[in-house]
Amino acid sequence: SPFAALGLSPALVRAAGERGYAEPTAIQAAAIPALLEGRDVIASAQTGSGKTAAFVLPMLQQLESAPRGAPRRLRALVLVPTRELAAQVAESIDGLAEHIAVPALKLACVFGGVSINPQMMGLRGGADVVVATPGRLLDLITHNALGLAWVEMLVLDEADRLLDAGFADELARIVALLPRRRQNLLFSATFPPAVQALAQRLLRDPVRIEV
Ligand code: AMP
Repeated sequence: SPFAALGLSPALVRAAGERGYAEPTAIQAAAIPALLEGRDVIASAQTGSGKTAAFVLPMLQQLESAPRGAPRRLRALVLVPTRELAAQVAESIDGLAEHIAVPALKLACVFGGVSINPQMMGLRGGADVVVATPGRLLDLITHNALGLAWVEMLVLDEADRLLDAGFADELARIVALLPRRRQNLLFSATFPPAVQALAQRLLRDPVRIEV
C-alpha cells in the first residue's frame, strides 16, 4: 500500500484503507515521513488537502509507541481555532485510531462556549490526546483538569485563524507550560507576518511543505 510505503504501521494503513483513502494526498506524502522521523513541520495547507490525516496518522503512530502498562498521559495536543474544527479533527482521530494497539486510546475534545463541567468530568482519568480551543484549554488547566507536562507533540491547526481569533496570548501561555523537548507542527492556509513570527518562536529546524 502507498500508505505503508510512507512508514505507517499496519493498523494505520488499514484504518486509512477503511476510510476509503487509496493514495496519500500531496501533503500526506510530504508530511507523514518527516513527522515519523520526529521532525518539526510547517505546512501551507488548505481545507480539503487532507491536512488532518497528514498529522493524525503520524500522531497515532507515535501514541502506539507507548510501553504496555504505561500510565495514561496527555501526549499529543491539537490546538484549533473553532469548535467546528475541533469536532472535525476529533472525528478524524476517532476514525483512524480504530485498529491501533493503544488499549482504549482516550481522546478529549474541549472548546469554549459551552459548560466546562462535562468537559472536566470527561478528563477524569486522563486523556492521551486532547483537541482544544486555546481559551478553554487554559480554563481546564486552571481547574487542574489536565496538565501539559508530558506532551510530546503539539499541533497548531489553522494557525492563521488561531491568531485571527485573538488567541496569541493564550498560545504563548500554553507554550510556556509545555516541555521544552517536543515535536511541533504548524499548519496554516496563509502566512502573514504574525504566523511567521509564531513559527519562528515555536519550530525547531522545521521541514517546510507547500502543496
Ligand atoms: P482535510 O483537508 O483534512 O479537511 O480533509 C478533507 C477530506 O479529505 C476529508 O473528508 C478526509 O477524510 C479526506 N481525505 C483525507 N485524506 C485522503 C486521502 N488520502 N484520500 C482520499 N480522501 C482523503
